[in-house]
Amino acid sequence: MEIKVVSNVLRTNDLLAEENSALFEKEGILAINVMGSPGAGKTSLLLCTIEALKNDLRIGVIEGDIATTYDAELIRETGVEVVQINTDGACHLDAHMIKRALVYFNLSALDLLLIENVGNLVCPASFGLGEAIKVVVSSVPEGDDKPKKYPAIFKAADCALLNKIDLLEALEFNPARFREDLLKIKEGLEIFELSCRSNEGLSFWIDWLKKQRCAQVLG
Ligand code: MG
Ligand code: ZN
Repeated sequence: MEIKVVSNVLRTNDLLAEENSALFEKEGILAINVMGSPGAGKTSLLLCTIEALKNDLRIGVIEGDIATTYDAELIRETGVEVVQINTDGACHLDAHMIKRALVYFNLSALDLLLIENVGNLVCPASFGLGEAIKVVVSSVPEGDDKPKKYPAIFKAADCALLNKIDLLEALEFNPARFREDLLKIKEGLEIFELSCRSNEGLSFWIDWLKKQRCAQVLG
């Protein structure tokens, strides 16, 4: 009797992720998978990013959440197109969910697609969505030990953001240790320290994102 292997789930996901990726490429869309713990500031980052780029790029957002449309409602106020995925308990987005959400967008009218994953530092690392860039948002209140405790998600990332640096003075967090641990996990990882509340450091992230977009357009 044939033994069914659980890794099929991931293989199926990878195939669908490739389809999504091909579609993004065909439509000239830069897709970003934004991952991080609950409360790290993923939605805040999206709001800041939209504010900074909405005059230059046509932006769409997919909001992943176990329940509620709280985040999607905040995004909608910015005027960009947003689709909510409620995962009904699932702790990560997968490529099939994205594929179904894409039906609701006019893809030829999009330059940038921001995908907010479910707050979780574990399984989003294993489920590619077809995105070009994976970003992990960390934040000062989470503590500086997260890269060491959850290395897989940081290893998968193209960019790591440390949010809420306006709280550095109030909390014990060693940014140098954080950065050092990240670079041990992934050499050359792009790291930005910022605050979505005070806007400090935000422009470095925005400039980097613009550069990624230019690189994509120039092929
Ligand atoms: Mg959120
Ligand atoms: Zn999960």
